[in-house]
Amino acid sequence: MRVLIIGAGLGGLTLLHGLRRAGIDARVFERSAHQARQPASYGIHLNADGLHALHACLPDENWKMIDAAGIPVPMIIRFHDPHRGVLATIDKRFPADTTDPVTKRRAVSRGKLHEALLHNTHTDVGVEPLVHWDKKFTHYELHTGGVRAYFADGSHTDGDILVGADGSNSLVRHQRLPGLQRQDLGIVNIAGRVPLAGAVAAALPADLTDGGINNVVPARNGWMFLSTWPTGDPDNTDVSNGAAEYVVWAWAGSRDSYPDGVEKLDGTHLKRLVSERVQDWTTPLRTMVDATDATTITTVPLRTMPQLSEWAPSRVTLLGDAIHNMTPMAGIGANTALRDAEHLCHALTTAVDPVGAIGVYETAMRHAANQALALSTRNATNAALAGPTNRTMFRTLLRASAAIPALRRKVFGPSI
Ligand SMILES: Cc1cc2nc3c(=O)[nH]c(=O)nc-3n(C[C@H](O)[C@H](O)[C@H](O)COP(=O)(O)OP(=O)(O)OC[C@H]3O[C@@H](n4cnc5c(N)ncnc54)[C@H](O)[C@@H]3O)c2cc1C
Repeated sequence: MRVLIIGAGLGGLTLLHGLRRAGIDARVFERSAHQARQPASYGIHLNADGLHALHACLPDENWKMIDAAGIPVPMIIRFHDPHRGVLATIDKRFPADTTDPVTKRRAVSRGKLHEALLHNTHTDVGVEPLVHWDKKFTHYELHTGGVRAYFADGSHTDGDILVGADGSNSLVRHQRLPGLQRQDLGIVNIAGRVPLAGAVAAALPADLTDGGINNVVPARNGWMFLSTWPTGDPDNTDVSNGAAEYVVWAWAGSRDSYPDGVEKLDGTHLKRLVSERVQDWTTPLRTMVDATDATTITTVPLRTMPQLSEWAPSRVTLLGDAIHNMTPMAGIGANTALRDAEHLCHALTTAVDPVGAIGVYETAMRHAANQALALSTRNATNAALAGPTNRTMFRTLLRASAAIPALRRKVFGPSI
């Protein structure tokens, strides 16, 4: 069996390793040039699902690179008042999480993760590469017993299965499931990055910089999210300034809470918009926004796939953002892409019939994806679109759940 994977992102490369480990012939086709700079981005928080998938699919050497690059971070979600009272702390650590060397939650730079995934994908001269660079997929054709993928340079290649791991604007999805479109949620995040050094390191208390997920919930509109990641991305050196870690913050608001055309504003204007919104907040948070280099500040319009309904399996399937792109507000997009890769790999290596295997994978993937899509959309709309009454109720619920463990378990789940 030969598997064609479109996209050398997190999910596509993980699948490549998993299939090769199981003795299945697989090749990746990536539109970018090999040494193309990765877009500067947030780091990734790898949770138990993502880590389990990487450990299961990657060769030992690659796994060790991730193990070395990831900083262990607590699975703690905090909700703060802008004046620094903690409204609630949700400690999702299980006893197993703190001792299991594989699934212990980590923060890792996207560049280091990508580097580890690309390790060992080079082949000797004269041997077909595992990753074909500069190969922009355009479309595919199904024929008896196989699939042919076409590329923008006029070339094509044949395989038994085609996997679209080509991210949120997937051309494989456009052809495979043409009716499935991302929805705009009417929410725009304004996000910035600042090195955890100097005045910022001095101002921010430990619970805002330990790698836990921090939410600042004002009494009125808006919401701020912040967390820390290790530096180490070659593309982020401009903002890391020699610091070992940096803080990413994001202000979430409805699009109509900003001036018209907010997505076209430059970093200086965006910084002013956020500074105005936090002007009466506690000093550490204001210091963090003030110290952020405006060139790192950008808008992130939030889009999401709708809930996925059933379709009949074929030789063409999808994973990760290509099928269930979600908002970043649950921090699980990468982890679900990695988990898809592991599950698809398992299905393809255990079933006799490839289309049957894809059917098994897709049924489980849709179920898990729909839960993740619902969670990420709910987090985004609660953060940015809740009216004053809902916000008051939410803050009251947070305070009450902080004081009453049974209520906390009921609201946030039994694992707390
Ligand atoms: C601002 C932001 C912050 C995020 N933070 C987090 C986080 O903290 N934790 C988390 O879990 N997730 C996070 N995510 C989500 C996460 O980055 C994605 O869910 C994840 O990268 C998806 O992996 P993937 O393999 O599906 O796609 P990608 O990693 O996007 O890879 C897709 C690949 O396909 C290639 N490609 C696209 N089109 C073609 C084509 N036509 N032909 C050939 N190749 C093509 C692309 O160049 C790319 O290499 C964040 C996302 C955003 C936008």
